[in-house]
Amino acid sequence: MNLSRSLFLLFLLGIVSCSVPPDRPPQISPDPASLYAPNGELGAWFNPWLPQKKRWSTIFRWAVSQSAYTGEWRDPLDVPRVANDGSSFAFPEHSASVTWVGHSTFVVHDDEDIFLTDPQFNTRALIPKRYHPPGVPISSIPASAFAVISHNHYDHLDAYTVETLPASVTWFVPMGLGDWFRKKGRKSVIELNWWQTAQHGRWKVTCVPVQHWSQRIEHWQNSTLWCGWVISSGERTYFYAGDTGYFHGFTEIGKRFGPIDVALLPIGAYEPRWVMRYSHMNPSEAYRAFLDLNARWMVPCHWGTFKLTDEPIDEPPRELRRVVEAAGGSLDPIRVMAVGERWEVPKTVKAGLGQVSNESRTSLK
Ligand code: ZN
Ligand code: ZN
Repeated sequence: MNLSRSLFLLFLLGIVSCSVPPDRPPQISPDPASLYAPNGELGAWFNPWLPQKKRWSTIFRWAVSQSAYTGEWRDPLDVPRVANDGSSFAFPEHSASVTWVGHSTFVVHDDEDIFLTDPQFNTRALIPKRYHPPGVPISSIPASAFAVISHNHYDHLDAYTVETLPASVTWFVPMGLGDWFRKKGRKSVIELNWWQTAQHGRWKVTCVPVQHWSQRIEHWQNSTLWCGWVISSGERTYFYAGDTGYFHGFTEIGKRFGPIDVALLPIGAYEPRWVMRYSHMNPSEAYRAFLDLNARWMVPCHWGTFKLTDEPIDEPPRELRRVVEAAGGSLDPIRVMAVGERWEVPKTVKAGLGQVSNESRTSLK
């Protein structure tokens, strides 16, 4: 293999793994003000509480390193799947449901409305191959749907998916990604910076900070923004974290937008920690994020679909169970879903003026 080909492969490895390799453990400022500090401008974004530049030497060291999982191959992988033709999306939901398509793609069906998180229906995320077909057919997504995009990595932003979903879909994207959609003929695009909100029908859609980065073949590193999304109807509030390392923003997001009904949180692509810690949470950190958010339900994602890092793709939910039990927490509010599964979000019981009775929340304390 010649040198240029080797360097290109390393470049692709860096992109598809969603990693920003730090050589030192992150020292995170607990000051919430840093979440509101300037975070860059078009073409150059950063996490103001902990700016981090990718080091290609770390990617190389990772590529040649051994880990606890080196050589391990689990077959068959334990990723449950249920049949779902998506036909229920054509009718109003009784209250609300969440369907897992796989990886970070959910279809949230709330009353008559449908929105998607980081829709990815392709057979690959650039290079990594999909282990299971999407949980519902892409053709089942109605023309009235809207979608939120967290960042431009290939496991979250997919050209085939964007071009195949109905052209009428409204896209909420972080700063710098609007042109990418418009070039594909997608005209209904709303581009937001952190803490900015747009109204869409009865929904308030807010772009919120997370600790990640961006890169794609057509986008230089950090030239487009990354984010999480809070999507609230007033009756129900959803938080989708996209990709993120553990940081102090979860507490602030929970305070500002709570009570959050459903937190869709990534639990996979975390090994080796010395490479992944900055940009991806492990299950222990994801559980801590759930507690910080003070959300009613945690639905884990970013596992079971694409192998991006060292741990087997079915390991994250096992590890999550271990860490929750070790912490003395309750597994009841954690919904580990099967690919294709439709989960009806239990109704919140109003206990009084402005008060919400919530057994699951108290069981975590
Ligand atoms: Zn990513
Ligand atoms: Zn990712």
